[in-house]
Amino acid sequence: PSMGDATLRRRIKSWEFEAFFNPQELRKETCLLYEIKWGASHNIWRSSNQNTTQHAEINFMEKFTSERNFKPSVKCSITWFLSWSPCWRCSKAIREFLNQYPNVTLVIFVSRLYWHMEQQHRQELKELVCSGVTIQIMNYSEYRHCWRNFVDYLPEEEDHWPKYPTLWIMLYVLELHCIILGLPPCLKISVRHSDQLVLFSLDLQDCHYQKIPYHVLVATGIIRPFVTWR
Ligand SMILES: [Zn+2]
Repeated sequence: PSMGDATLRRRIKSWEFEAFFNPQELRKETCLLYEIKWGASHNIWRSSNQNTTQHAEINFMEKFTSERNFKPSVKCSITWFLSWSPCWRCSKAIREFLNQYPNVTLVIFVSRLYWHMEQQHRQELKELVCSGVTIQIMNYSEYRHCWRNFVDYLPEEEDHWPKYPTLWIMLYVLELHCIILGLPPCLKISVRHSDQLVLFSLDLQDCHYQKIPYHVLVATGIIRPFVTWR
């Protein structure tokens, strides 16, 4: 962004973005980058927050509904870029929030799934999707978008958005499919504390092979695409 950019003071540092949104770094903190668009206006309001004594999602909803210019009767689309997917409590609170304000639509991109092995988180995340919230794993286009719109990068760094290995992204995509389809977890994550190394492994069962879309499995590289000879 240029020096005169009005959004500069709301942007986060490039190292913060790289650390928070790294799919391999299992940080304690959560970062939420958000975009709000009112009615037919093309203006997009962008800002960010983090978890405090309460989770970042709750902080957002409290701030959003207490703004002076908040009008529940006007259509509003919100996009979140969250470093961690919502926990079960937040997922519940988000559903209540959207029930209360039917003119609000919400799309959520996440870079990691929060404690994805735990049934309660899986269940509430699934409920959130069933209630009409779009949830997707951040991919390169979202990392680039966030970098350009939320990060205070140097002028020559416009294309320096972090290109995390696609394997990690694909594994989370796979696991999110499992959650939405109500399948058991297939992605296992272990942390080697001695060297802060995060290890991913996959444990696929028949139900996964049967229910997960073929292209998703192929994209992770765990199965090879069929070759047809003519
Ligand atoms: Zn939460």
